[in-house]
Amino acid sequence: MDTGLNTTALGTPTHRFLPDGLDADLLSLSPLQFARALEVPTLVRVPGAGMRPPRAFACLLHGDESTGLEAALAVLRRPAVRAFDLYLVIGNVPAAVADGGFAHRFLDGQEDFNRVWGLDIDSPQRAAAAAIHDHLLEADLEAIVDIHNNTGNNPFYAIVTTDDARDVNVATLFTTTVLRWDLGVNTLMESMPPDVSGIAVECGLPGLPESRAFAVDGLRRFLGTRRFRDDRVRFDVDMLGNLVKVRVRPEIDFTFDGTLDTHDFVVADGADTANFVDVDAGHVLGRVRPGADLPLVARHPRGDDVTHDHLAVTGDGRVVLTHPTTPVMMTRTVPAARKDVLLYLSDHLPPPRG
Ligand SMILES: [Zn+2]
Repeated sequence: MDTGLNTTALGTPTHRFLPDGLDADLLSLSPLQFARALEVPTLVRVPGAGMRPPRAFACLLHGDESTGLEAALAVLRRPAVRAFDLYLVIGNVPAAVADGGFAHRFLDGQEDFNRVWGLDIDSPQRAAAAAIHDHLLEADLEAIVDIHNNTGNNPFYAIVTTDDARDVNVATLFTTTVLRWDLGVNTLMESMPPDVSGIAVECGLPGLPESRAFAVDGLRRFLGTRRFRDDRVRFDVDMLGNLVKVRVRPEIDFTFDGTLDTHDFVVADGADTANFVDVDAGHVLGRVRPGADLPLVARHPRGDDVTHDHLAVTGDGRVVLTHPTTPVMMTRTVPAARKDVLLYLSDHLPPPRG
């Protein structure tokens, strides 16, 4: 095949563009073998009949989230002639193939590949993202779905950046549990122009057959739906939003399964099982030694510190929420919490009317 490899002026490979689809040899590979064959962030175009605007999906923007690639290969292995060109973004391939495969969200020295879209080019990740972004803009997409996994226990849910009817209708091809994302953190979906429905889908933990089956089901509906209605929202949805980021303070040594003998903060056992569950004031996130300060910081998307509006430490060292809220995306590993957040707090929003 044409290797489609693009390089910088210094000869460093940035990304591949494969405009003629994937050949049978590539499609027959396992997800990890496939990622190894690509080597770098890759954009594939699977040509269609050109009767409808192109659609796209993205996977592996986080290198440890394998479900999207598993689902993409499963869907693309079935021969199909579509009315539209289909684009597939395979994101942080170097992170995906390192250390035995699907072990790193991003590598040390890299930027998070889902925080680099629409920014000035001053890193290899931004250069690859910008080049892929240019192709996607030129393609004049109708919609793009970015497929992710969580690092903790969560239901399947979709993420939208607006409550426009078409965006919500694309989301509900996957699920009616929907999160409204207004963080402005340079994700792929946020970088899309307003006339492109850009959503993300979170498919539970990676590596599980139910995660893969959920992604395959949704992708087939996404590809098999003739038109995305934009005049009204088709289905009732549960919409959560007003996200507040909760991070562990960088100087705090914390653990999910250790003790306060050796750590400053112990996250409550099974804390991630409260994801998407409405909890009352007093809900315990973890413990510190009695008299210790709050180990967490809470911020609004705009950066305002709202720690003391949402969190407190009791006299005996319980770290608690101070209002009824709905925790989402609580992780269960230290590296994931360090690289992103420990959890978000959310509120129920009125259902979109479209
Ligand atoms: Zn992700």
